[in-house]
Amino acid sequence: MGVAGVLGGRRPLTCAPVAVLALQCAVETEVGRRENNEDTAFASPRLAVVADGVGGAASGEVASRAVVNALISLDTSRPSGPLDVELLNAVTRGNDTVRFIAACHPEHTGMSTTLTAVALDDDGQYVVVNVGDSRTYLYRDRELRQLTRDDSLVQELIDQGALSAGEARHHPQRSVVLVAVDGRARLEPRLFSLEALAGDRLLLCSDGLSDALQDSAIAATMALSGRQECARSLVAQALAAGGSDNITVIVADVAGENGGSRWRPAH
Ligand code: MG
Repeated sequence: MGVAGVLGGRRPLTCAPVAVLALQCAVETEVGRRENNEDTAFASPRLAVVADGVGGAASGEVASRAVVNALISLDTSRPSGPLDVELLNAVTRGNDTVRFIAACHPEHTGMSTTLTAVALDDDGQYVVVNVGDSRTYLYRDRELRQLTRDDSLVQELIDQGALSAGEARHHPQRSVVLVAVDGRARLEPRLFSLEALAGDRLLLCSDGLSDALQDSAIAATMALSGRQECARSLVAQALAAGGSDNITVIVADVAGENGGSRWRPAH
């Protein structure tokens, strides 16, 4: 932002556009060796979402789409309250929709979905919400950090010291999630905020990626300069590793942009 000068010790008003952070996203999804792709993803300059549906037939797909659609509504209307509250409300609406669809269509009974989502607020913070074992990673200063914690059986066993992270990758029950968006009441998603910086790169992914690739391979790939190249390479490596699950990734570069991506008017 340019400021013309200081007059009489007071900073003058300026009409220069304010640079706010925005996500520049590459999205890749692959059905892998499954018949259906039950993952759903959405990306915009201020919101990135990955959901991994669970259920027989097309039900997992129905659940993941319902929840992602609930979050997309945030991106198409102006929030009336703080972004973290709005995000939680959107997850609750998605959960309610999963319950409603299952009640109306018994063939979808028992469907559920994971969810990982990042929204950029106007004050330069990531607001992250997570349910299940889809993940959000932050790549900053050439270091990869997993921001989210899995709600999974193997994560519990790791926390208890009964399993190593390496063993968890091959555990027969590695896909068992302990919490999911499944239409039940009292869903309490993990939600937190942290400072966003221009130059950050985020990775949101379903477990089809994180089960297939070690963190070291993910970190090496996140160092690639092009985000589209990075996203494609991550999926290609996961496929080559022989995983049988759907694979979805969003690689989001965080950049300063003038105007455009605010949740509320700049003035
Ligand atoms: Mg999966």
